[in-house]
Amino acid sequence: MKKKEKKIAIISSSPLMIILALELQSQGNKVVVFDKSTVKGGAWGWFNLNLNKRFLNVPKYTNIIHPYNEKERRFIKKMNSYLKEKHKVKVDKVKKKFDINYKYKDKFSYDFSKFYENSLRKIKFSKSYISKIEMLADKKVRLNNKLLFDKIFIPSFSGIKEIKILKKKIFYPECRDIVSEHVSIIAKKFKLKNFYYSQFFDDCFDRVRIEKINKFYNLTARLDHSIKGIKISKLKNTYVDRFAKKSDVIKVQLSKFHNYYRNKEQLKKLKNAIKGSSVKYIDTTQFMCGIYSLRKFLNV
Ligand SMILES: Cc1cc2nc3c(=O)[nH]c(=O)nc-3n(C[C@H](O)[C@H](O)[C@H](O)COP(=O)(O)OP(=O)(O)OC[C@H]3O[C@@H](n4cnc5c(N)ncnc54)[C@H](O)[C@@H]3O)c2cc1C
Repeated sequence: MKKKEKKIAIISSSPLMIILALELQSQGNKVVVFDKSTVKGGAWGWFNLNLNKRFLNVPKYTNIIHPYNEKERRFIKKMNSYLKEKHKVKVDKVKKKFDINYKYKDKFSYDFSKFYENSLRKIKFSKSYISKIEMLADKKVRLNNKLLFDKIFIPSFSGIKEIKILKKKIFYPECRDIVSEHVSIIAKKFKLKNFYYSQFFDDCFDRVRIEKINKFYNLTARLDHSIKGIKISKLKNTYVDRFAKKSDVIKVQLSKFHNYYRNKEQLKKLKNAIKGSSVKYIDTTQFMCGIYSLRKFLNV
């Protein structure tokens, strides 16, 4: 028997929530993804670079995917095949320097640009900020006092201010607002040789990664507290030459990211508050643990 079509809301356009949206849609549901930002991708966002009338999608932030435990390590092969075959994510083995604090043998890079090109066209987005969720007597959910859905899926890091589940007290999810700053440097080449990623790079930058984009290279890095708030002119004059010669640099861009971070305790309270309701929690604390927790639903 065909399942009844449900009206489903999803908060956040991060890759995991987009993958979830595509799956729910393919099962015959009507899905709307809400994101308060015009920039899609959340912590995986990108900017468009116009290089001699060619537009390139350049990541703003450093993201790497790797297992955090033995269960995830055993799962990586299945996840890579699923991402390649179902979502057009380019997955390559990395042989260059790749420093993380978890030891495992095979390391991979993931290029989501084709995934975004392909998936964003298929999804209905609404640029709105959802601050209030209520579950009503008929099990429907009402968002911001006006929008009605059968279900809502929320990720780990969203800025929801209050959740009211029938017969329960209003729940105010706690989070810590963190604004991180990141640099992207597009260059013909970098001084660092045979380098892909380093989690702790030096006194001013961490999460440094270099990837090839078209004929160029993109270095992304997060700024340490000691240089947060720096002007782009000072960054260009003082810091860029530790990565590349000035003559090789094509563009330098600074980006800020606002994250509604929740620690384990805050996530536990959130999950407890919505238990058994039409508000569903998705673990997006890391890409890989998210796919792992959804593996049965996604048929991975
Ligand atoms: C800078 C940074 C780097 C990271 N790097 C990695 C990494 O390398 N590998 C990894 O696996 N994980 C990484 N993470 C963890 C990351 O949080 C997850 O991978 C994933 O992106 C989390 O998805 P999310 O949807 O919970 O949140 P986010 O990625 O933070 O996205 C939230 C999105 O939802 C929107 N939004 C939030 N609240 C609302 C609301 N109430 N209404 C409407 N829109 C809303 C925001 O505008 C944003 O676009 C990183 C996180 C940060 C902050």
